[in-house]
Amino acid sequence: MYRVPTRSLPHPMTGNLFVSPVPPGTGWPDAPATPSTRSADDAADVTTWAAQAATLDELSAEVSVCRACPRLTAWRETVALEKRRAFADQPYWGRPIPGWGDPHPRLLLMGLAPAANGANRTGRIFTGDRSGDWLFASLHRTGLATRHSSEHAGDGQQLLSTRILCTVRCAPPDNKPTVAERATCAPWLLAEWRLVMPTVRVVLALGTYGWDASLRTARELGYGVPSPKPRFGHGAHAELRTPEGEPVTLLGCYHPSQQNTSTGRLTTVMLDTVMARAGDLAGLR
Ligand code: SF4
Repeated sequence: MYRVPTRSLPHPMTGNLFVSPVPPGTGWPDAPATPSTRSADDAADVTTWAAQAATLDELSAEVSVCRACPRLTAWRETVALEKRRAFADQPYWGRPIPGWGDPHPRLLLMGLAPAANGANRTGRIFTGDRSGDWLFASLHRTGLATRHSSEHAGDGQQLLSTRILCTVRCAPPDNKPTVAERATCAPWLLAEWRLVMPTVRVVLALGTYGWDASLRTARELGYGVPSPKPRFGHGAHAELRTPEGEPVTLLGCYHPSQQNTSTGRLTTVMLDTVMARAGDLAGLR
């Protein structure tokens, strides 16, 4: 059950009122679930239902109401209820974040997990925090997004033949999911790769976490993966092979976290250079 809501607040784009966390089927922009969407309660549900998902819509709906990790469910809902002061006048999504973007992408971006006051607030991946500001600005400069920023679900932002996923779908305390939580969430990721990878030609991994998750998921789907395991680095690349023999390029990029961008470890030029290369290799520029 969802926690007892405190009070309804207006969505910044639509003005419609929502309690936090947002119950499914109440009209949040782009929200994929209905009140009858089944909610996974444990790792066994996730494994079984992810394997059964026949469409991205079905998968995204079930991801968005998942409650299989007790610690992450409690954390995301607590943040949604307590809110950061700057967003105290907004409803918080407070639920898992499905993949977002083109359902038939040529480029796939792999992140770590939603931010507690970013995607956990707005309901859209990398939306509403500084990491997302960097990422969407770069996607726009390189011709892969229609708008310079992604502020809220329903703002009109669109990705061009590009999709973004988080390895773990719920905001974790300190941005650190446990190994067990990562494993519990992995079947959702595997299912999304199964559904979108037929058109993907480039995977851009944001940070070591996204890089390792990409390699693990590719192996599980029977892809050819170089041995020894390719090492992550900014600009690193590895050539994967689908089971049908199609090439897929894995590129590495430092995560646009505040830790990396505020210290100069990742600059705008560095990010744009890798993003442009990913777009070129995917045949999008
Ligand atoms: S992290 Fe993944 S498996 Fe765990 S509750 Fe969130 S969506 Fe479900």
